[in-house]
Amino acid sequence: MVWRGFWLGLGAVLGRRAAPGRRVPQGRRAAPGQSCALRRRDALGQSCALGRRAAPGRSCALRRRAALHPRAWRCAVPEGDTVWRAARGLHTALAGAELIRTDFRVPRFATTDLSGRTVEGVVSRGKHLLIRVAPGPGESEGWSIHSHLKMEGLWHIYGRGERWRRPAFKARVVLETAEKQAVGFELGILRVFPRSGEEEAVGYLGPDLLGPDWDAAEALRRLASVPERPVGLALLDQRNLAGIGNVYRCELCFLVGVHPLTPVQDIPNLERLVDLSKRLLEANKTRSRRITTGLAGRDPLWVYNREKRGCLRCGTKVVHELVGDTELELRDLYYCPHCQPPVG
Ligand SMILES: [Zn+2]
Repeated sequence: MVWRGFWLGLGAVLGRRAAPGRRVPQGRRAAPGQSCALRRRDALGQSCALGRRAAPGRSCALRRRAALHPRAWRCAVPEGDTVWRAARGLHTALAGAELIRTDFRVPRFATTDLSGRTVEGVVSRGKHLLIRVAPGPGESEGWSIHSHLKMEGLWHIYGRGERWRRPAFKARVVLETAEKQAVGFELGILRVFPRSGEEEAVGYLGPDLLGPDWDAAEALRRLASVPERPVGLALLDQRNLAGIGNVYRCELCFLVGVHPLTPVQDIPNLERLVDLSKRLLEANKTRSRRITTGLAGRDPLWVYNREKRGCLRCGTKVVHELVGDTELELRDLYYCPHCQPPVG
């Protein structure tokens, strides 16, 4: 496990300061060459998938702040709820319609053409999205368009001829029907394969928190299978339960009052943690803004991204660190040292 601690603005946590330039993982900030306008559009576009801009009710000032400060839009990072919403929107727009043009803008699938085939449906599997297309004439099997938003991807849906709200060079795929255009921007993964390939692509995932076949007992079994693993890492592992991202793992640890590095075997009530995971994602799947506190205003989260404002419950300074299984998997970790005392 890799742990990199730092305390923004005030000094080191755990006696270590992050190396210069490593305070925020690469790729989170706007690229150095990007203009202010581009950064602003990116940030607003990140507010939610499917082209909805800033969440309803957010003031202009809040929207500007989110736009101008890259750190402020982290709470929009795609998680299972975001992808579930994207799948629902895409399903509504595309299901039952014939594709009249497809344009895959990644080298591996640049010559792939699924035009003339009908979209059967769109589903999410954890943080993965599958657009299922019926077989064409003479084909024995349908197709799956598999995408993953990773950190910055999103899908937009447009009417025919409508102007895109993101730069065309960021588009990775365009799917066009007689009435709609679905455009996937900056997708972290984009692949096309025969339907039978789905098992290989997403079969390794644990029970899907928002899937029709959610299995709490199996999720619990998988989580507990490596008892010495820190719960904050086990929750992010999509092989245990699919759909939890960085925001939820921080908020879930807070809600059950455990330090994120507590070994799974020391969690007093693992069943409650699994149940809470399910309930949080269900509650948020139809919201454009993620809320874990029950407060829809300025304080939707207890600790995530609150290192400058303090724990919402007790006001203690929130600790912000980078933790991951490997250097490449480092993710922001937030916790309250008072509400979530360290183990041992
Ligand atoms: Zn606290």
